[in-house]
Amino acid sequence: MRTAVYPGSFDPATNGHIDVIERALKIFDRVIVAVGDNPGKKPLFTTKERIAMLKESTRHLKNIEVDSFSGLLIDYVKSKNSKIIIRGLRAVSDFEFEFQRALLNRVVDSGIETVFIMTNEHYVYLNSSIIKEMAMFGGSLNDLVPEIVEKKLKEHFSKT
Ligand code: ADP
Repeated sequence: MRTAVYPGSFDPATNGHIDVIERALKIFDRVIVAVGDNPGKKPLFTTKERIAMLKESTRHLKNIEVDSFSGLLIDYVKSKNSKIIIRGLRAVSDFEFEFQRALLNRVVDSGIETVFIMTNEHYVYLNSSIIKEMAMFGGSLNDLVPEIVEKKLKEHFSKT
């Protein structure tokens, strides 16, 4: 069974992330979406909230697990008996960073492969920061994020 790990901040998940997950499930038997528990990043949502939103947004999918990880990604991937890291690619601007990370991971462990998945063209410009900015200013997030994410963002910004 081929298990792939899709790591990220998912703060919060967007339709771009969900699209990458759906595409990955066409290639791999099982996908573990791993929310990075990195307190240094000062996320808007807690790890628990990000996991809950991802679970709700992927309820229609089979063979998926949503988990969190801290520490070295490579160690986490191995602990899950996987050798594959999935990353999404949007524009050229993602390339250099992703290229560096993939090569570094390969130096650390040559058995690990990073697989890049290109998102649907509708989501190419989407990232979690833009979504948070739009939500803060009350913009419509229709078709950009899962329903639960839109709801949680509205709740969050109506409080602040
Ligand atoms: P990180 O902090 O690890 O970059 P993100 O949640 O921002 O976490 O992204 C996780 C992964 O999803 C990255 O590989 C990123 O390139 C990819 N990704 C984010 N948004 C999109 C999108 N709209 N389309 C395709 N891939 C995306």
